[in-house]
Amino acid sequence: MAAKEDPAVTHFREYIRINTMQPNPDYVSCTAWLRIRGEAAGGEVEVVETFPGKPVVVISFPGTRPELGTLLLNSHTDVVPVFPEHWKYEPFSAHKDSEGNIYGRGTQDMKCVGIQYLEAIHRMKKQGKTFTRTIHLTFVPDEEIGGETGMQEFVKMPEFKKLNAAFALDEGYANPTDKFSLFYGERCVWWVMVKCTGQ
Ligand SMILES: [Zn+2]
Repeated sequence: MAAKEDPAVTHFREYIRINTMQPNPDYVSCTAWLRIRGEAAGGEVEVVETFPGKPVVVISFPGTRPELGTLLLNSHTDVVPVFPEHWKYEPFSAHKDSEGNIYGRGTQDMKCVGIQYLEAIHRMKKQGKTFTRTIHLTFVPDEEIGGETGMQEFVKMPEFKKLNAAFALDEGYANPTDKFSLFYGERCVWWVMVKCTGQ
């Protein structure tokens, strides 16, 4: 008999199976699923549309001091396209092999992160833990096509200001060694003008 799968893994595989591939991501199914998981974790779920059909799913866990700046745990729900003929297993099957490897578009970038946020908080809440600061999980659309219809618009909206974010986490990158990669100040832009006058 196969060992029982950890529910966190089961939820991750469910998330992978929702086809949010650009250019036609299934945000309707994704939003409905995130609502179920968010409420199961004890969160308050709100959906904000940046544009019609472009949902930002906000799952909030109020802290004991709601006046403090909040922690924003951000992730994007869309994934890049696939060439299925080059895949060992169907890219949206979330196939798990005998070694425990899970195959699917979005496993690294970045549905793993979104589900880890949710499962970590769900677990802590089940243990009766409370948080000082409010935590918001934001699941944004369209990062893989530049975010203009996702985060870039969301940050201009009153619904974003209302979150009162003080610190945010977002995706990193897989590291093939036993180290973890962190991006430090990655979003600070340095504009460099290069002028070539020729001879
Ligand atoms: Zn990504």
